[in-house]
Amino acid sequence: MDNTILWQNTLKSLEQKLSKPSIATWFKNVSIVKQTEKEVVLSVPNIFVKEWLQNKFSQKLLSCFQQSSPDIKRVKFVISNNNNNSATTTSKKRSSSSNKSKAKISKISQPEIEFRQSSGLNPKYTFENFVIGDFNQLAYACAAAITRKISSSSKKRIYNPLFVYSKVGLGKTHLLEAIGNEIINIKKTKKVKYIPCPNFTSQVISAIRNQDIENIIKNYNSFDLLIIDDIEFLAGKEKTQEIFFRIFNELTEKGKQIVLSSDRPPQVIENLEERIRSRLGGGMVTDINQPSFEERVAIIEKKLEDKKETLPKEIIDFIAQHIKKNIREIEGALVKAVISYETTRSFEETKKQLKDVIETPKKKISPGKVIGCVSDFYDIPQKEILSQSRKKELVTPRQLVMYLLREEVGLSLTSIGMKVGNRDHTTVKYGIRKAEENLRKNREFLNTIEVIKERIYNT
Ligand code: ADP
Ligand code: MG
Repeated sequence: MDNTILWQNTLKSLEQKLSKPSIATWFKNVSIVKQTEKEVVLSVPNIFVKEWLQNKFSQKLLSCFQQSSPDIKRVKFVISNNNNNSATTTSKKRSSSSNKSKAKISKISQPEIEFRQSSGLNPKYTFENFVIGDFNQLAYACAAAITRKISSSSKKRIYNPLFVYSKVGLGKTHLLEAIGNEIINIKKTKKVKYIPCPNFTSQVISAIRNQDIENIIKNYNSFDLLIIDDIEFLAGKEKTQEIFFRIFNELTEKGKQIVLSSDRPPQVIENLEERIRSRLGGGMVTDINQPSFEERVAIIEKKLEDKKETLPKEIIDFIAQHIKKNIREIEGALVKAVISYETTRSFEETKKQLKDVIETPKKKISPGKVIGCVSDFYDIPQKEILSQSRKKELVTPRQLVMYLLREEVGLSLTSIGMKVGNRDHTTVKYGIRKAEENLRKNREFLNTIEVIKERIYNT
């Protein structure tokens, strides 16, 4: 069968198994370059697509090929051109591309250094040293697609803005800056700006003071890619929101790309004008989750490999088991572990050194303790907190008790209801939701919870 026909048939079968966006993303520039009786060779645009297809879709691809040509037993991939979209996964094969990129960085000329500095980018954040796993795959795929689009100067419309959110320390800044650095590497003529939102706000404030607003807007409107990190800091800053809105509109109208990050999705950023919230969420919103144990191990191994350091497997596993929520903390532990192991050569000693950076399992606490601490904090008798009274001053402490019984003790809604004055589970659910809302809106309430938790665990 002719290559083109075989490929078209295969794409049709793939449509039964994969979503349209998936096919558009991964198979757009793929074609058959060669087929033998048992093997098909596909040409793919870059190493990133190659590894993705190999790891994720090779089985599906093979079975789709077999629908047209049952004898095909293997699918191979070759990279069609050698542009530098060399984002890859954690495999060891990567070191050659990392070296290439290091070599590239070491050859940077003075004007280029200045260009980089004015972009605000930190060159240490690259795709080469970014580990990809299920936890960040979608965010990464979007970042890679944007990088491809801008560096190929394609006019194709792509989601705009890209909005990436996650808890702290999970790689937002790294990923966002990697887009910028990769673009500067590939296409030196592109103007990229990276700025954390608090810095953007300070610029706006000083521009207001110097009556220089139009200049700042003009300057921002000249960028091909604008990256604003931690956009949740726009909350409550009305003037900055207004300037951001103007820049956003002008850039997007010109087809320029905007990439944003935040610690939460757009719909729960407080004190944001509605028109801004809808812009933030109007492109692609994607999150980064917590990496799994295996992914944490892969991250640790990659960091060691990059620094040409080694640690015994049991220490690597130990760190991965104990630090789950924050990659920055994993890095901190790793530095400590390497120093300690180099000097002591002992797993036990290294473990001791890590004691204060690892997450210890939470002490088991009783519902009575939670209720007692809330009651002490507000100086309201337990009986009243648990009563049926609807007095205003009782509502917040009661909701807080419900929240803590779920978060810290892990009780079900029904058992919480039984402990808190025999309420039904829908009342409890409502109470917890209210406490959560309060937590997001009100910094003081957040502090209160921290103080109470401190007492619960340490008294
Ligand atoms: P965030 O902006 O979400 O708080 P950062 O991007 O600052 O997180 O990441 C914290 C640290 O963890 C950085 O040093 C970063 O290089 C590292 N890191 C985060 N994600 C990854 C990843 N997927 N691969 C390698 N390093 C990572
Ligand atoms: Mg960050």
